[in-house]
Amino acid sequence: MMSFKKKFIAGTAAAVMACSAFALPASAATFIYPSDIPTSPSAPSETPSAGTKTSVQIKTVTFSKVSSNKIKLAWSDAKDAQVRLYGLQRFNESAGKWQTIVTKKSDGIAGNGKYVYTDTLPSSSPKQYRYRVCVKVSDTNKYEAVNGVSQFASNIKVCLDPGHFRSKNGGTYGYSEAKAMLSVATNMQTYLKKGGIDVYMTRTNDNITLGGSTNQDDGNQLNARGHAAYYNNCDVFISLHSNANSENANNCDTIHQPTALNKTVVFVNKVAYNQSSGVVVNMANRMGYNITMKNKELGIPTCSWLRARPTTYRLPNYGTDAFDVYNESVKKKGKIVFRMLTNGDDYYAVLRAAAEDGVPGILIEHSFHTVPSYCYAFMNNSDVAKHYALCDARAIGAAYGFKVLKSIK
Ligand SMILES: [Zn+2]
Repeated sequence: MMSFKKKFIAGTAAAVMACSAFALPASAATFIYPSDIPTSPSAPSETPSAGTKTSVQIKTVTFSKVSSNKIKLAWSDAKDAQVRLYGLQRFNESAGKWQTIVTKKSDGIAGNGKYVYTDTLPSSSPKQYRYRVCVKVSDTNKYEAVNGVSQFASNIKVCLDPGHFRSKNGGTYGYSEAKAMLSVATNMQTYLKKGGIDVYMTRTNDNITLGGSTNQDDGNQLNARGHAAYYNNCDVFISLHSNANSENANNCDTIHQPTALNKTVVFVNKVAYNQSSGVVVNMANRMGYNITMKNKELGIPTCSWLRARPTTYRLPNYGTDAFDVYNESVKKKGKIVFRMLTNGDDYYAVLRAAAEDGVPGILIEHSFHTVPSYCYAFMNNSDVAKHYALCDARAIGAAYGFKVLKSIK
């Protein structure tokens, strides 16, 4: 058995972010267009009913992180026949109004592609922005322009690594760690994108192909998972797992854990541990807290410390007391676990690989799939994967100070 030592990190004292509603107030700011843009040559084919104008609104703007100060925005041209000009806008928080950052002329032909623009941000610090696309219609007698639906986007991208592949690491009631974590990751991707956080996933189905090999759980493939964060321009690597008791851990070392308890255990790598901003440790702490509270709410057994608290109990901060519940299994007062080899490198290969690239990493064991009550809850409530995803996604957004989703959709 490999020897290792554990370190415990005190929680960062970040203020708890208030839960604001996800929807933001619409701005009354006017979209001003240059006057010399010619009208689209193609006449629209639709004929509106007498006395009413057809509303034209761009409802979706997609985004991806290019670098810490560039975001690529895109929208489809499905309404081209009704539009003569598109205006991409970013909300200026300090000025309190929408500002047009680029205009694009419509080619008047519907369905022939996408409009793309890479926005250069005013700062490279982690920040959540809002974008929308407004239009100038091709025929004001027939069409009415409606402000586009706003979409969050940011210069943050996370690498989600749903642990294992196919249906590995089974529990009772048909539970599979690999399938369960893929479901959590897929839902996380949806929630993170809604909050403007870009996502790369090491796998999007039952199989994983990385580093030139498929469905290899050791050697290069574990390394490749960790390195994927760097190669895909991600700010943090997050490996998603459920845990196993030592007697059921497929010969892998597991921190000893009482079989009757489910416990969230969150590991960070040494880059996260040493990160001066403390953002990723804060994120890890929030994940542990959120999942622990959710397990309790879902009726999945957790430690007596937590059970003794009323449902409405909320910890005053993310400080010392909060972490007792996460890592009771290590027989010490909690905190995020930093698990190292004797040479000081990270114990887990995926976290070690991310650290080699200078990428902060988290490995979260949401619960123990060797505890039947957890498997039962997961397999008999289709929302558990969504709840877990929301817990993790909220932790990520909140650690950066972003507005985050309030509840599962
Ligand atoms: Zn695992």
